[in-house]
Amino acid sequence: MAKTSEHPVVKRYARHVNPALVKLLGMLGYGRLFLGADGLYLIDHEGRRYLDALAGFGSMNAGHNHPEVIARITRVIEKGESSRGEGARALAAELLAASGLGAAVFLTSGAEAIDRAIRLARAATGRRRLVHAGLAYHGLNLGALSLAGARRVREPFEPLLENCIEVPYGDRAALGRAIDGETAAFFVEPIQVEGGMALPPEGYLAAARERCREVGALLVVDEIQTGMGRTGRLFAAQHEGVVPDLLVLGKALGGGVAALSAVLASSAVAERVGGLAEEDLPEGHAVSCAAGLAQLAVLRSEGLAEQAGVQGERLLRGLQAKLGGHPLVRGIRGRGLLVGIELGGTDAVALRRLSPALMGAFAEGVVGHWVAVRMLERGVICQPTTHRPDVLRLEPPLTIQASEIDGLIESLCEVLAPYRSLPPLVADIARRLGMQALRGWSF
Ligand code: PLP
Repeated sequence: MAKTSEHPVVKRYARHVNPALVKLLGMLGYGRLFLGADGLYLIDHEGRRYLDALAGFGSMNAGHNHPEVIARITRVIEKGESSRGEGARALAAELLAASGLGAAVFLTSGAEAIDRAIRLARAATGRRRLVHAGLAYHGLNLGALSLAGARRVREPFEPLLENCIEVPYGDRAALGRAIDGETAAFFVEPIQVEGGMALPPEGYLAAARERCREVGALLVVDEIQTGMGRTGRLFAAQHEGVVPDLLVLGKALGGGVAALSAVLASSAVAERVGGLAEEDLPEGHAVSCAAGLAQLAVLRSEGLAEQAGVQGERLLRGLQAKLGGHPLVRGIRGRGLLVGIELGGTDAVALRRLSPALMGAFAEGVVGHWVAVRMLERGVICQPTTHRPDVLRLEPPLTIQASEIDGLIESLCEVLAPYRSLPPLVADIARRLGMQALRGWSF
């Protein structure tokens, strides 16, 4: 059978797009070539189906290629609507009604929307200082990177924006000290997915809301990954009844087919800056907005936010029941269909003494990647989180059913079953690396 890495598509990708990624995929034999997608599944070039428990980092909340989303954007394309269509106004109206905010602007990527939120916050308050959380992930353009809560991510691009202050995530007292009369805004994620699926203590967002109001700073909630039903409510901040000054959306907003993001603002902020529109098209692109409208319609008609709550609970409780006592599982946490499994062993200290270099690699999250590779070999796609690669994230489409949740739990149990301590897992990784090296890192 021909190797996947020899497939012309993979070769072209390696040559023209991302050679480093293809090399990396070859290290543990992680590479697959996905040429099709259908609901909960991605389909590789040989027709194998994989349950997608990553869902484009939360972009595919209604699953891949939802027929209603496809039908709606097709209608817009066939009608040849201009980019100044009715769709954007309708989408803005729906999002504003659902969020309790007053104005919307549509953009393309999440990072772009964060950048716009930074400028809006500074313009609306006349202040410069921005506060963000440790291990925050807001995207990779220069504005969003300035708010990244991981030094290693910021450093290669410094100097970034000045006047950005970091506070420990979830620490209410720190908010009181850092957010003051000179603060333009506090940027915060309701759950830090890329920060290791960190959930703040209950009442944290409400406390942030309160503190920002006291000192005239804006509360900016980044719901790019938590929004659009993923945590059991349309927006995760709604669990605490919090209405921010700026709400940032992306990913699933585009229905899994369009690059669409948005900043929703309170009427007060919109008034202070004289409206959200700048030089771009305030209405957003017609096809993208049609995808957004279809996404909202599907979320409602299929009750997907509620489903995320129900199935997420099944996933969380199932994992806790079956893997809670596993010696390599340090914690299982999440809300809705955002669930993280923190991996590592109590014998890490002994291993570190044996081989500091190897344990350095572990700190970089080899365990999480190894579990993800073994899951892939069982037909499940999942990945560790960005800033905490020791945390494996499970983030399937909200259309997932109980039987698939149970299968997902079963697969994880099977993958972790042979390992009661770290050394056998380290040995397996070393064996695989050796084998892949002999194969010239092909897959
Ligand atoms: N904010 C959060 C919470 C995210 O999860 C992401 C992407 O993962 C972003 C911002 C950046 O979005 P994008 O990759 O569309 O620029």
